[in-house]
Amino acid sequence: TADSRLLQVDLRSAGYGAVPVLHDIAFDLDEGRRLVILGANGAGKTTTLRALTGLCAAQGSIRFAGAPLQGLPAHRIARHGIAHVPQGRGTVPDLTVRENLLLGGTLRSPREAAADVGFWMDRFPRLGERAARPASGLSGGEQQLLAIARAFMARPRLVLLDEPSLGLAPKVTAEVFAAIDELGRARGTALLIVEQNAALALAIADTALVLESGRIVTRGAAADLQGDDDLRRAYLGV
Ligand code: ATP
Repeated sequence: TADSRLLQVDLRSAGYGAVPVLHDIAFDLDEGRRLVILGANGAGKTTTLRALTGLCAAQGSIRFAGAPLQGLPAHRIARHGIAHVPQGRGTVPDLTVRENLLLGGTLRSPREAAADVGFWMDRFPRLGERAARPASGLSGGEQQLLAIARAFMARPRLVLLDEPSLGLAPKVTAEVFAAIDELGRARGTALLIVEQNAALALAIADTALVLESGRIVTRGAAADLQGDDDLRRAYLGV
């Protein structure tokens, strides 16, 4: 329904310079739902997330919880309740695990943020054990969990995740996706996930869209895309 529509995207174009990367990108996401964006390297998945968080130029309309976001700088967009876990995680290597978590809570009161840091250390004991150590010493999977926890520290209504599986072993990737799935559910947080690993991402998503050369070439229920062998061969290279 219109009331539960959290994100409404209708972009004519978006990109970095004179030549746009994205064309006619339109989709909606309801409160607490999950959308996955699939597509080959260079299709424009990362650019789509960057357009939503004010990190690249975009023409058209982006509405979040009824408020227009297009043209706002990244820090103003974050205040609306959108957290972004960028590709490559974006944790600060020289800061400790605890300091990285606190960075995610800067929009909240120090007391609330400190209480939430405690929650995340319990939830991910491997982070708790390494609280006072620099993030640079964490494994890839631990850094991804730290980046996810940091995003949730802001208590966002929407989390954007850019290739959470990047560089991780299959077993670790499965753990990371299980954590994303559980957290999204527990907090009722909407998720927008960009991912190369179509099977894992579709398994936790409600809906999916596939990008090719900066355009949406197909979309549908995640379960339908999961079961569509022709489509998977054509667009996802599997
Ligand atoms: P990947 O999985 O490789 O990140 P992607 O689907 O996320 O792929 P994008 O990173 O969005 O793709 O890139 C889409 C297009 O935009 C590519 O042609 C890329 O070369 C171009 N592009 C990406 N970042 C920039 C930038 N900072 N400046 C100019 N062009 C860029």
